[in-house]
Amino acid sequence: MKLIFATHNPNKVEEIRQIMPSYIQLLSLSDIDFHEEIEETGNTIEDNAKIKAEVISKKFEIPCFADDTGLEVDALNGEPGVKSARYAGEEKNDSANRKKLLENLKDKTQRSARFKTVISYIDGKLEKTFTGICEGEITEKPSGNGGFGYDPIFKPSSKNQTFAEMSAEEKNSISHRALAFQKMLEFLRNQNKSNS
Ligand code: IMP
Repeated sequence: MKLIFATHNPNKVEEIRQIMPSYIQLLSLSDIDFHEEIEETGNTIEDNAKIKAEVISKKFEIPCFADDTGLEVDALNGEPGVKSARYAGEEKNDSANRKKLLENLKDKTQRSARFKTVISYIDGKLEKTFTGICEGEITEKPSGNGGFGYDPIFKPSSKNQTFAEMSAEEKNSISHRALAFQKMLEFLRNQNKSNS
């Protein structure tokens, strides 16, 4: 089965490629030669995941999924949330986003936060969403060189390392995106069984 992952983020593609079962052929947007930016105009991460999956599904008649992720910080009333990518400005700069978040949490002792990923899956007949959440906290300063985005300042609960200090396998064993992805896989497995 072919499955398009509707993202321009090569880090996300790499994460998902590592846990994709061999019976599914993962296609990235560059594999299908789609290079346009898809505008994320939704008010929620659910809306934005759907917008991305719908654009690609309308153009290519291949099952497809898109994810959208938000980092919710309790001391900031859930911000940056849906604005996580553009927290420090329209240019979507990961390092500026991290800097702004650490600045806004300066002197705050309550540092609990969570990553939430929503995956929207569309195959022409049906549309489904899957959610994955990873609880944790925002560290005082960045550590680690792996991962991307807010990884160097996010330490999952019950771990002593930030996501950026973990191997790809460790991050994938607990991450918001991997959890949502596993739910989608479970759904696809059940679909295959009932169609066979
Ligand atoms: P989006 O899902 O690509 O819109 O991501 C929103 C923001 O969250 C961007 O700034 C990403 O860099 C960041 N982000 C998404 N997923 C992760 C992750 O797994 N770790 C760290 N940052 C992430």
